[in-house]
Amino acid sequence: MAKKVHIPLQLIIEHRAIPHLFKTQVYEWIKGKKVALVSGSGKTRKVTDQIIDVISGQALDMQVLTCKDNTLDTINDLEREVLEDHPDMIFGIGGGKALDVSKVVGTRSNVPVVLFPTAISSDAICSPVAVIKMLNKSTSMGVKMPQGVVIDLDILSSCPSRLMSAGIGDLLSNKTALFDWELAHRAGKEERNTFASLMANNAVDSFLNLLNREEVDSSQLMKLAAESLIMSGIAMSIAGSSRPCSGSEHLISHAMDYHCGSKALHGEQVAIGVLFAQYLQGQHEQTEALHLYYEKLGLPTHYEDLGYTREEMHHAIRKAPSMRNRYTIFNEYHLSDETIDKILDLVYPDHAKNRYQLTGSSIG
Ligand SMILES: [Zn+2]
Repeated sequence: MAKKVHIPLQLIIEHRAIPHLFKTQVYEWIKGKKVALVSGSGKTRKVTDQIIDVISGQALDMQVLTCKDNTLDTINDLEREVLEDHPDMIFGIGGGKALDVSKVVGTRSNVPVVLFPTAISSDAICSPVAVIKMLNKSTSMGVKMPQGVVIDLDILSSCPSRLMSAGIGDLLSNKTALFDWELAHRAGKEERNTFASLMANNAVDSFLNLLNREEVDSSQLMKLAAESLIMSGIAMSIAGSSRPCSGSEHLISHAMDYHCGSKALHGEQVAIGVLFAQYLQGQHEQTEALHLYYEKLGLPTHYEDLGYTREEMHHAIRKAPSMRNRYTIFNEYHLSDETIDKILDLVYPDHAKNRYQLTGSSIG
């Protein structure tokens, strides 16, 4: 029996996508309708104003809602406003939190959502998963896929490069995640959807192939990174879970969030986790090659550059296997403290420090 898969009806990734929104199907969807626009209060509000300028003649009514964070309280407040005002569609505009919150509010109030990512810092730009904060801890929850995704490449090109690097870190993690999924399948713990695997794998490969070409400009890379992250989100939708894009490297990042103060962006932490996971998965010889890619892409190569101490990183590795009930490479080892220390030395050598600057993360 074939499987039903939820995917967006419209994907628009182009320069001047917002000024040209009137040429698209998204513009038709809102004809004579009420639209709730959810965004942060900083730079993303300017993008919201830009969207309002374009749609004001087409939509019947517009309601601007501020997403100040991704806590359950904020989600409940926004959901109440949406339920009182009955919009026909929600536009989520932002770099991360506003997108996640829009997806949750849309799912809970049964209103379709169109996302307008202003940065591509993770695969959340088009995925059936949202990260929210409950009791001061981040947690993931399943949500409906967005009905549309609109990415204006001119807006992306002006966002801090650190956010784009984080998105690429989240993309690269598909490789170690797929290795773990295969492992779980072989151990008889989980079914593996081969179509979802293929998509998640090809999403990374197409990006790396472009990166390996001699002549490639940053605009092409940015567009392909956005497309690859969207493909990753669709792979998750096919799989019915985050499995094709989240394995042991994500468990390490979750442990950094949960036990060590969540000091960096999700994709940055995942990139650090990939180095450790790949080593455990037996791909020792690739660590050096991956370091070269990391440098080319401006990714962090040492946990200290993200603000974590040696003790915290050790603790994160120790706690990682218990973060989710998910079979990964961690289940095939019993890592002693001595072994963890040895691997930390090999995977994050001293010369990998001080190559990465933590700046320019806020675009709310
Ligand atoms: Zn991720």
